[in-house]
Amino acid sequence: MKSVILIAPPAAGKGTMASMLSKTFNMPHISTGDLLRNEMSNQTSLGLKIKDDMEKGNLVSDEIITELLINRLTKPDCENGYILDGYPRNVEQAYIYEDILDKLDKEIGVVIFLDIDKATALYRMSGRIVCATCGASYNLNNVELQPKVEGICDDCKSPLNKRSDDNVDTFNNRFDTYINKTSSLINYYQEQGVLERISIDASSTANSTFEAVKKILKR
Ligand code: ADP
Repeated sequence: MKSVILIAPPAAGKGTMASMLSKTFNMPHISTGDLLRNEMSNQTSLGLKIKDDMEKGNLVSDEIITELLINRLTKPDCENGYILDGYPRNVEQAYIYEDILDKLDKEIGVVIFLDIDKATALYRMSGRIVCATCGASYNLNNVELQPKVEGICDDCKSPLNKRSDDNVDTFNNRFDTYINKTSSLINYYQEQGVLERISIDASSTANSTFEAVKKILKR
């Protein structure tokens, strides 16, 4: 199957869609946010370098992201496609990614833009709890996305917590970063003819959005 890139404001539900796609189509879910959080929780030297930017909601340097991404995309499970969640996040990364694809002899696939307004994304952020062990994400504001046992990950049974960057101040900065840096990717990919848009509002459920994503992929 084609690889998928998910572009959206923070807390729009990229991670949830990526995880549903990954389970349904058996393709790896590659979240640059998770790759970075992994470095932080393992307290690697890279983890220490990125901590400040991550906690403030700024973008981590393209150099660091490129290195982590190349390491991940060259693993054998990426051979037949993957789902990219949180990358590219600015036009420079889109150019870098084209070079990576050329070198690895891969195609870009389809770019799905989850179009959501700030208030709805903020509401989703306020209910999000995540598993630091396996990266699974849940939402207390959405019945479909609550864990089976309160505070415990369905998949790996570890405790669930709020992400340290899921607070209103950091969210505002992440949203500004999205508007200033990431949103220009929408025109960029539209001009290349690979962009698909899905509108999300307060009434959209994870399942209804997933149906829309699957429809696009089946075309
Ligand atoms: P969300 O989409 O909810 O904002 P992510 O988990 O995708 O959360 O990203 C969390 C943080 O990780 C970002 O605010 C940023 O600091 C960093 N990050 C993730 N992906 C990238 C990227 N491609 N380039 C630079 N920084 C990134």
